[in-house]
Amino acid sequence: MENLGYYNGKIGLIEEMTVPMTDRGLFFGDGVYDATCAVNHTLFALEDHMNRFTNSLAGVRIKPTQTREELTALLCELVKKVDSDCVMVYWQMTRGSYLRGHAFPPEEIKPNLLVFITPFQMGPFDRTLRLITREDTRYYHCNIKTLNLLPNVLAAQATKEAGCDEVVFHRGDRVTEGCHSNIMMISGGALCTPPADELILPGITRKHLMQTAEQLGMPVREAPFTVEELMQADEVLVTSNGSLCSRVTHIDGKPVGGRAGEMLRRLQLAYGKRFNAETGGKVYDEE
Ligand code: PMP
Repeated sequence: MENLGYYNGKIGLIEEMTVPMTDRGLFFGDGVYDATCAVNHTLFALEDHMNRFTNSLAGVRIKPTQTREELTALLCELVKKVDSDCVMVYWQMTRGSYLRGHAFPPEEIKPNLLVFITPFQMGPFDRTLRLITREDTRYYHCNIKTLNLLPNVLAAQATKEAGCDEVVFHRGDRVTEGCHSNIMMISGGALCTPPADELILPGITRKHLMQTAEQLGMPVREAPFTVEELMQADEVLVTSNGSLCSRVTHIDGKPVGGRAGEMLRRLQLAYGKRFNAETGGKVYDEE
């Protein structure tokens, strides 16, 4: 198949799939999701993504009818049906379909599982990004990957209109994350990230980069930092499944980073090696 849509057991091309209008995802964004890429039909870091998905479900008290093993097996099965070598796999679970009412529907109403798989082009490591800053007006459960993404959507549009690639959300002075990625920096020879609290999504790429840095003997610092500190950092990084760990050249039109290029390149290459080893693909060049 050239792409794949799945909804509660039904499979088809995405453009042919429909969902019932009472799905609580539509009324309330009452659901959670996760996503990862797959190369050679192998889902990258699936255990990590399933851990996060399980935490997200528990965080909003959705009880899946499938076991974690069944869900994992389903995703691995579905990814084989799409012809492309490199795809994005997205899965979401909502609290079910029921006439609109804020409190949970009756127990017998079961969650809805939706999956889509589309061909995907991994961004090259040497891609550079421009960011804008924006006050983080999201709610206080950003560690749960819910479908409620309206502030992220608005920030993404503002970023696009500014001719940029991502946003730096901040609460007051404190940097949180991007609208679909984590923000990290290299400062004083250390890889620095805001702590994984309820203000940010615990990104899987963030986690892997921290592990990669430790393996390379680079210090890792998990502590809050300010927008000003980010502007003064030796390098600024945007990390996510799709954007990997890309170097940032400008924030709000001002040049940033560019002073620890060698350290960044070592990190990127080691991360690329790890990705290639897990997927058996050659998505990243290893020099
Ligand atoms: N923060 C947000 C808000 C995101 O949507 C994403 C993308 N899932 C990330 C961070 C990065 O997470 P990951 O590295 O797991 O893709």
